[in-house]
Amino acid sequence: MSTLQKEIDKRRIFGIISHPDAGKTTLTEKLLLFGGAIQKAGTVKRNKAEKTATSDFMEIEKQRGISVATSVMGFNYKECKINILDTPGHKDFAEDTYRTLTAVDSVILVVDCVKGVEEQTRKLMNVCRMRHIPVMVFINKMDREGKDPFDLLEEIEKELNISTRPLSWPIGIGSTFAGVYHLYKKQLKLFSPDSKMQITDEYIELEDILSDDLDKYIGQKASNKLREEAELVEGVYEPFDLSLYRSGYLAPVFFGSAINNFGIEELLDTFIEIAPPPQARETDKRIVKPDENKFTGFIFKIHANLDPNHRDRIAFCRVCSGKFERNKFYQHTRSSKKLKFASPTSFMADAKSLVEEAWPGDVIGLYDAGNFKIGDTLTEGEVLKYIGIPSFSPEIFKELENTDPMKTKQLEKGISQLVDEGVAQLFIQNLGSRKFVGTVGELQFEVIKFRLLNEYGASCNFRSISFTKASWITSKNQEQIQLLMRSQANRIAFDKDNRPVYLSNSKWDIDSTMRDHPDVVFHETSEW
Ligand code: GDP
Repeated sequence: MSTLQKEIDKRRIFGIISHPDAGKTTLTEKLLLFGGAIQKAGTVKRNKAEKTATSDFMEIEKQRGISVATSVMGFNYKECKINILDTPGHKDFAEDTYRTLTAVDSVILVVDCVKGVEEQTRKLMNVCRMRHIPVMVFINKMDREGKDPFDLLEEIEKELNISTRPLSWPIGIGSTFAGVYHLYKKQLKLFSPDSKMQITDEYIELEDILSDDLDKYIGQKASNKLREEAELVEGVYEPFDLSLYRSGYLAPVFFGSAINNFGIEELLDTFIEIAPPPQARETDKRIVKPDENKFTGFIFKIHANLDPNHRDRIAFCRVCSGKFERNKFYQHTRSSKKLKFASPTSFMADAKSLVEEAWPGDVIGLYDAGNFKIGDTLTEGEVLKYIGIPSFSPEIFKELENTDPMKTKQLEKGISQLVDEGVAQLFIQNLGSRKFVGTVGELQFEVIKFRLLNEYGASCNFRSISFTKASWITSKNQEQIQLLMRSQANRIAFDKDNRPVYLSNSKWDIDSTMRDHPDVVFHETSEW
């Protein structure tokens, strides 16, 4: 087998997603501990920005800085090299999460057993479904009095529109939580609360749960209940089907308690067995397979340097095919520039280090002086562009007002770089005389204002406007689209790639415009 193929087979890259507080950070940390990547709990920084008051900017900034280190975490486990891509759970950073999901081959979804499916869970799963990303579910906090496991599974199926298949089954819940039974491996694992980190492999092999041995471990009452429920599970759920999971239709489910380090090993062991290795990916020209000899990759995230004296940024590149090498020239396909990177970094747990080479399924950090935009592709010369990194319509729109005309240049440069980073979307009207900034949360406007002032010395205000949605418009009927653009000129603006969007302020508004212009297609995202 070639070295390239061996390196590909070893790698897994996944995103970890949840509604805030379900236990994503705790689970990530425990996964890293299992992988031996960190030595003690408490090392993974919480990648959160919960507060919204103006005085909390510095806090946001600090957290944003911290999240550079924590947003990609690599670790080795058994024969695999695993990359976790962390995603901010806070809804104001949802765009960032959506984009991160373009770089993964699968996800682990964390659900709180007390709260069940929550708002962000739904939104994130919509994105996973759209992209057919394979999903594993970890139902967390089983040490708390949560919902009945059957009800939880039904809720997940119904609300998230995905079939489920429990691979482990909980014994009791909350104060009666006694452990989990692995339905396929026929192993019993008993629960003892353990918030410290201890890696234990104490399974009890139990081929037949009908045997009296089970009673010895968990008592007769719990044993009977487990037998009944296990029978019901086998009756209700189809056997686990790998291909359905790999195509995103079936989610295997595990139960556990991240904080107690319980149920993590089962999750991880099954993950490396079933989760897909680096997959082929679509470009505007053709499908690129990971085992092609020539390097290709794309940028899915950009982080600004927090130090205003160093304007460089780190672009996160997912390697898609071939071997990446330090100091070799690659083609930046959007600009046709040749770029080489003297100090590409890898992200192992909480440490960054220089890498000489990288393989499909790796994420590398590239120092960038302003060449990259999110979605950019690097190749060895072939002109192609990875697709599937769309912009979604923002939910809040504000008009940018320059409050310091002496600093107009700085403001323009600043806003354009923040847009490249994906902090917000910019829509331009009347040849630049009006600029609308769109985000998914109020918090971004605060971050933008703060960063424009601190990094570019430019000051601005945001004036509220009534738009709530941007739809990208196309049509085969040029006359009709021109008519729409003329008759509703105050609603039309252009995105960063100069494509027209229609801005609307209600469902009624867009519905009636659609009715009046039947040949114009209104797209929900920037890619179609
Ligand atoms: P995130 O917002 O999804 O990253 O959630 P965190 O990992 O920060 O967890 C949110 C809260 O839930 C923290 O206070 C954790 O200590 C707690 N937590 C995480 N896992 C468990 C668990 O298994 N049981 C209980 N009782 N609490 C947990």
